[in-house]
Amino acid sequence: MKKTLNSLLSFFNTNDEEEFYYVRIERNEKCYCESGKKYKSCHYPDHQKKSKVAVKKISETTGEETIKVLSVKKLRKEYYKVKSNVF
Ligand SMILES: [Zn+2]
Repeated sequence: MKKTLNSLLSFFNTNDEEEFYYVRIERNEKCYCESGKKYKSCHYPDHQKKSKVAVKKISETTGEETIKVLSVKKLRKEYYKVKSNVF
């Protein structure tokens, strides 16, 4: 699943119209909820169960980071929607 997810994210990162790019929060990083725990022992198991992924949405202009929890299903849907518009 990780491979698919990374290619989905990199797809969104190559969208020229976006002024943002997405970086996946890795399992060994501190969790975004500021519990002080690592992501893998905090929100990660719940996200796995629900097929979600936590990412940092980073502005290319200001460098400002926003945390987003995305549904993998939704990501995939968006991906195919854009793809089918292109071809
Ligand atoms: Zn957490």
